[in-house]
Amino acid sequence: MAESYKEIEVSCPICEIVKNIQIPQSILTQKRFGIIKIQVPQGGVCKEHQFIVFINSKGNIMGYETIDLLMKAESPPKENVEILNLNYFIRNFGLYGILSLIHAKIFNYQIYLLRIKRDEKFLALINRILDNLIPEIYREANKVIFLDESDYDNIRLKGNAALIMDSHQNILQTPWDQKLKLKFEENLIEKALEFFDEKEQFLILKRGIKKLIKEAEYAKNALEKVKIIYEDDLIDQLSQDLMEPRINRYRLLLLKEFINRRFSKKLSDEIKSKVEDFLALL
Ligand SMILES: [Zn+2]
Repeated sequence: MAESYKEIEVSCPICEIVKNIQIPQSILTQKRFGIIKIQVPQGGVCKEHQFIVFINSKGNIMGYETIDLLMKAESPPKENVEILNLNYFIRNFGLYGILSLIHAKIFNYQIYLLRIKRDEKFLALINRILDNLIPEIYREANKVIFLDESDYDNIRLKGNAALIMDSHQNILQTPWDQKLKLKFEENLIEKALEFFDEKEQFLILKRGIKKLIKEAEYAKNALEKVKIIYEDDLIDQLSQDLMEPRINRYRLLLLKEFINRRFSKKLSDEIKSKVEDFLALL
């Protein structure tokens, strides 16, 4: 059956140029996902910007999120390669899709892709590449799984703790806190895209992720020795132990998320903010 579309009027959150874009009707008729994220690529509404539009099941726009990273002109796609470059993946999943996939992989969220017109070989390739980004001990059995679109309502998803993307590059569900912007992943991709060679690109991603995980492991060790620790003290300690500049609060939030998702919630809860403590006294 041919897919039907609904047109919605979108204005670029940066330059305010207005254009109608098409949304597949199928994702509007389902109710299970609540607010979905539509990726608008550069050139989709205006020439310069790419962003995410949040829409509800009635097709009303609930908000926007901007993506700062600007894509350079694309290099020609390579034919028949086993290791595909990053641009290929961005073309397939959209930039926000890639950021979400990487985030889900690092932080151990189940990933569902609504079945795309591809075979299992493509799925195996995605899994191999995502697995390769993180150290072996964290790969586990958390593989990307295909879902059939007809299963929208039948699927028994693991609570809400799954990333769900469709074949139109739309993000149906992101399981993490909406406050957690994907800036870490965005910075990594930006650095990786400075290279064309796919091995270099993935090496950059791998290194950046490894560094984050190493910090999280150090933080875990520190937390195991105490009952509570204040954010600032933990930041000081990490900086001393790793002989690195002090990390910022966003980075700490990522470490906390990693510890929560990979080790234990109890440990991540030991990290306290002085502000929270103060508020508790009021
Ligand atoms: Zn614009």
